[in-house]
Amino acid sequence: MKYYSTRDTSVRMESAEAVKMGLSRDGGLLTPEAIPQIDQAFLESLVHARYQERAAKVMALYLTDYTEEELLTFAENAYGPEKFDTPAVAPLRKVDGNTHCLELWHGPTSAFKDMALQMLPQLLSAALRKTGEDKTACILVATSGDTGKAAMEGFADVPQTKIMVFYPKDGVSAVQEAQMVTQEGANVGVCAVVGNFDDAQAGVKRIFSDETIRATLAGRGYFLSSANSINWGRILPQVVYYISAYCDLLRDGEITMGQKVNFCVPTGNFGDILAAYYAKRMGLPVGKLICASNRNDVLTDFLRTGVYDRNRPFHNTMSPSMDILVSSNLERLLFDLSGENAQEIRGYMAQLAESGRYEVSDAVKAALTEQYWGGCCGEEGTAAAIARYYRDYGYLIDTHTAVAADVLAQYRAATGDDAVTVFASTASPYKFCNHVLSAIGETPAGDGVELLDQLHEVTGVAIPRRLAALKGKMRRFDLTCEKPGMDGVVLDFLK
Ligand SMILES: *Cc1c(COP(=O)(O)O)cnc(C)c1O
Repeated sequence: MKYYSTRDTSVRMESAEAVKMGLSRDGGLLTPEAIPQIDQAFLESLVHARYQERAAKVMALYLTDYTEEELLTFAENAYGPEKFDTPAVAPLRKVDGNTHCLELWHGPTSAFKDMALQMLPQLLSAALRKTGEDKTACILVATSGDTGKAAMEGFADVPQTKIMVFYPKDGVSAVQEAQMVTQEGANVGVCAVVGNFDDAQAGVKRIFSDETIRATLAGRGYFLSSANSINWGRILPQVVYYISAYCDLLRDGEITMGQKVNFCVPTGNFGDILAAYYAKRMGLPVGKLICASNRNDVLTDFLRTGVYDRNRPFHNTMSPSMDILVSSNLERLLFDLSGENAQEIRGYMAQLAESGRYEVSDAVKAALTEQYWGGCCGEEGTAAAIARYYRDYGYLIDTHTAVAADVLAQYRAATGDDAVTVFASTASPYKFCNHVLSAIGETPAGDGVELLDQLHEVTGVAIPRRLAALKGKMRRFDLTCEKPGMDGVVLDFLK
């Protein structure tokens, strides 16, 4: 299977090359040229399989220049007991008769980013081998909080790689920052950017497209790659858990084969919900994809009107990993919905770059409405959802998951659709202790990692082992730069 750019379908390459490059040189996203189809027999074969086996089988459909055996080894490494605190890897928790929560935060950094970022470094290492690459890959990451840590954890001390992470200075939680600045590994670097996530992401994209920097780095033996969800190697491992969730529902007798389920996903850069869309396009019986946003509601408006308009205030919220106004992965969705019309996509993206706004065609609009429902939830709604889940179900959820829980309730009230729905739980509540404590009626005593114990004492919910270990850890990084300074930080890092 070949991969091509959403902005130029004559750019074609094998999957290893696509994973290695991360982003196409024309600024487009590398995307599979066809979507493999699965049938009931395929799903049946996975119902009693372990998560690792499901992952290898699903990924093999797309990564045709990797063997299934190779992929199974990667999956065993990525999702094994040293990394994940449950053998189910991505367990479903039943909330009520037709609502299930897909817990995606049992990995080493307690956010769903681990699902892909424990896999990506292995895909990339193999890609370096397969393509005979002799340069070192430098992974540049812009993070809204969770990707940075998960990427460093995945790439720490992986041979022939270095990783530099940029995060918005005042845009991440105290626990998230503590996780990043204490990261171990000889090949990692972290820098705070004065600005918001979109600034950090724009800076990274600018460095990517700067031929002078590329040439300088090439002279020093480096090439740039990406661990953001623009990299196909991030999206694919996420397709797995939607298929896996469906298999779990079948196994547990919650649904019958062929029955449609909805997925509701707390969304920022549109990677996670795009993976759910691919699962649906592969033939998984899925009804609506419910896109949940926080107060940064650009996607809600877009899904309702077909107009994407980033010209609006940026809000820092208690769900920082969703504080995003430019959702990169939307480009892959539009590419698919437009019938893979690269010219149309180039047009939209040019307008976005120029005026911050574009309006999709009527055909794309109709397809969007058929596949998606978009909703948003403000700060009060987020806190109320945490309180409600804790009170009604004894279930402690984080701020991002709460956005999904609230939007799901809105969707049901608005449409009357009571189909079985799985909503994604994307982070452990312990990553956002202060907000979670406040939401359940407690006064946070202190800040940062001190609150882990308080939340534990109040709720009795176990603290993830790696978060508990943060308390005694030394801060290793203390670097801050202004937006234009990001280039210098990278050049310095790769001396
Ligand atoms: C990254 C993240 C999201 C948003 O996921 P996207 O793939 O960017 O849409 C939601 N919740 C948490 C906790 C995250 O870390």
